[in-house]
Amino acid sequence: MARYVYDFIEGDRSRADVLGGKGANLAEMTRLGLPVPPGFTVTTDACRAHLATGAPPAGLFEEVNAHLREIEARLDRKLGDPGDPLLLAVRSGGRYSMPGMMETILDIGLNDATVGGLAARSGDERFAWDSYRRLIQMFGHTVHGIPPEEFAHELAAVRATAGPAGPSAGQLRDLVDTYKKIFARHVGHDFPQAPHEQLFLAIRSVFASWNSERARIYRRQERIPDDLGTAVNVMAMVFGNLGPDSGTGVAFTRDPATGAPGVYGDYLADAQGEDVVAGIRNTVPLAELARLDPVSFRRLGEIMATLERHYRDLCDIEFTIERGRLWMLQTRVGKRTAAAAFVIAAQLVDEGVITADEALTRVTGAQLAQLMFPAFDLTGAPEPLAVGVGASPGAAVGRVVFDSAAAAAAATEPVILVRRETNPDDLPGMIAAAGVLTSRGGKTSHAAVVARGMGRTCVCGAEALRIDPERGEVAVGDRVVRAGEVISIDGDTGRIWLGEIPVQPSPVARYLAGELDAEADPLVAAVHRLLGHADAVRKLGVRANADTPRDAARARRLGATGVGLCRTEHMFLGERRSLVERLILADGPAEREAALAALLPSQRADFVGILAAMDGLPVTIRLLDPPLHEFLPPLAELTARVARAEALGEDPGRDGTLLTAVRRMHEANPMLGLRGVRLGLVVPGLFAMQVRAVAEAAAERVRAGGDPRPEIMVPLVGDVRELAAVRDEAERVLAGVDGAPEIPIGTMIEVPRAALTAGEIAAEAHFFSFGTNDLTQTAWAFSRDDVEGSFFGAYLERGIFPVSPFERIDATGVGRLIRLAVVEGRAARPGLTVGVCGEHGGDPDSVAFFAEAGLDYVSCSPYRVPIARLAAGRAAVAPTTGTSDSR
Ligand code: ADP
Ligand code: MG
Ligand code: MG
Repeated sequence: MARYVYDFIEGDRSRADVLGGKGANLAEMTRLGLPVPPGFTVTTDACRAHLATGAPPAGLFEEVNAHLREIEARLDRKLGDPGDPLLLAVRSGGRYSMPGMMETILDIGLNDATVGGLAARSGDERFAWDSYRRLIQMFGHTVHGIPPEEFAHELAAVRATAGPAGPSAGQLRDLVDTYKKIFARHVGHDFPQAPHEQLFLAIRSVFASWNSERARIYRRQERIPDDLGTAVNVMAMVFGNLGPDSGTGVAFTRDPATGAPGVYGDYLADAQGEDVVAGIRNTVPLAELARLDPVSFRRLGEIMATLERHYRDLCDIEFTIERGRLWMLQTRVGKRTAAAAFVIAAQLVDEGVITADEALTRVTGAQLAQLMFPAFDLTGAPEPLAVGVGASPGAAVGRVVFDSAAAAAAATEPVILVRRETNPDDLPGMIAAAGVLTSRGGKTSHAAVVARGMGRTCVCGAEALRIDPERGEVAVGDRVVRAGEVISIDGDTGRIWLGEIPVQPSPVARYLAGELDAEADPLVAAVHRLLGHADAVRKLGVRANADTPRDAARARRLGATGVGLCRTEHMFLGERRSLVERLILADGPAEREAALAALLPSQRADFVGILAAMDGLPVTIRLLDPPLHEFLPPLAELTARVARAEALGEDPGRDGTLLTAVRRMHEANPMLGLRGVRLGLVVPGLFAMQVRAVAEAAAERVRAGGDPRPEIMVPLVGDVRELAAVRDEAERVLAGVDGAPEIPIGTMIEVPRAALTAGEIAAEAHFFSFGTNDLTQTAWAFSRDDVEGSFFGAYLERGIFPVSPFERIDATGVGRLIRLAVVEGRAARPGLTVGVCGEHGGDPDSVAFFAEAGLDYVSCSPYRVPIARLAAGRAAVAPTTGTSDSR
């Protein structure tokens, strides 16, 4: 029979898929002999079965009961025992961390009978009644969806009438009565008194919380699959709210914002853990615990060291101290900022904990991309309006909004979401906002954790802010900021300014551009070190897409070893547009040749510049690709101009001729029309002129003492005969130019037919370069310009694909065409150089795929070159982790 329940002493961290991350790590800590309250985990299998049928799988509750009895025996305390009741925490926890997205119910087992036993055992009647009211509230909300405000309202009323020491036991008992009435009114029956019934309902509602709206939104954002389900951890309660010698906290083994070594965290005395995460009361820094409870603090330090050594990484920890006794409630390899990821990985190498190869697996291309974002330029900046806690780095400028809906509605304009504290309902707004600002909570508050997870700038705990969402304003001292005013927030230092502060390049970007020394700061040093190692281990070359000498030079500084795609389209625009018009309107070969001859010198000059910037490295120049009519004025505009001229009785002149040409060339599907190689074959002399310009430019560079390495690339080839025809013509031209080096002629593989006949095509091609944008368009029959705006949203929503195939290469479909072409191309021409020059060349996950498919290089936009270098290094050391970059 399938097993659905595992005791903490049975599991370990390798079983996170079945036990969830939280359960697997609770088991791991138990195995390490750390103080974890006893408990067991109901598996994700059970959850999936429950979600599929709407009912728990057969035998589940018998199995739960059997494990519960073991725990009761170990603790010598029983669920529902009125004299000395066992209380339980029922906690969600899926394969991947989804902080605060699913449900947890504490204090299960309290009822009218056991509340007295809890009071007697703890010697604290107020605590017992307070725990009971917490249970009714959490249970009512989680299991039955009762709005928490209904309870909070009553609690606030009682607190208002209570003395400075808080509500009395009697008041809390009355409050429990009120809570029960609220419960019965909403649910239609009384709060369940039977502890086992409470337990089973709690387990089922945790299962159901997997599919709550906020959990689904979070998964989509984090690209976590929807079909994994959550595990449920059932464990004995420990109490941080039993007086001043109790408390609860969250800790990190290194600073999760900067990576600096040392113990970081927040502590809250006399509180339950939920109070910290919710950011409801302000915590004290963990260092304070050294004064409050030196013994527990020292023990916590030892445990943190043990966990770091064991996990060989930054860990975050949730703990509770019950009357001087320390309990571990959770650990995991902690989330961290992009900067901390690099700094910690480099530190761990220095400390001899991990190898340099392993360090590469600890950072991602997406994180490096984040570090290249600009930061505020503070020269001449005004005094900050206020300072909070820098919880998630970045420089965000935007208009103030006070709720999630307003943030989500401001689609085009950057906004800063300003809240007292955030909760999971604020998720859509946090996704939409450029930055998040709160007045309460520390680095471990909901706002901080979620913002860091998604790379959103966040400043939290800015206590000077008096936020009034109802009036749509926030006051600081006597300054009032209204919704819609612009503010700037700095997620590193926590500073907040009124107005827009200009931004400047990040140190990492400056280092990559060669403007900063590698030892400039710990972060730059870490990036330098890890990128250096990536370059040393990667097999994949990284080139850049660059059309100008400036871009080529920039790409080279960023580490590109060549240009993989030099587009020639822009060279036909600007002042040269009139020459192109002449070419199109040419009537007869003489006029056409005159137009081409006029274009030749400027083309040659373009190539000379690029070849000089990439001297000694390959420069792949693509012959003209887009439809010719793109160089002419739009049809509608011309039609209007001609009509106006005719209405005024004037001669439309040149416009008339142009209009005829545009009409003649009009296509219903230009993407599938006269472009690429087709154009070259139809407009005599066009490609020959370009080839001549390349060869003459190369010859000129040779004469100047350079080492030009141009390659000529033919776009949109579908049949070998197209390529052969262009190549014949090109070789005739090349033979007639003196002093040029050998120039290889290759083809793009960007239509399915080219991939499918790659063996034939390779006979005529010196190299292949996959144009994955067009290959994706043509393989899926997706017109990119149309589909992204029209139905991709719905497709993503419905999970047809998790990411747009234009963003991350579709490894199964388009990828299959690529693999096939690589294999058959190389079979026909051993040693064939194969690269990719679509936008996918700069996407870390796609880079991993290209490495695995055996490509020689990727080519991407210059600023993504470092990202591709890192991704290629990662692919070389851990080929199978390729798809996890984004997580
Ligand atoms: P999340 O995944 O949202 O962090 P948790 O399952 O960690 O949810 O539970 C939320 C809070 O409940 C935790 O911060 C923890 O302090 C508290 N908690 C969990 N288990 C126990 C327990 N056994 N005893 C006391 N408090 C607990
Ligand atoms: Mg937790
Ligand atoms: Mg193309």
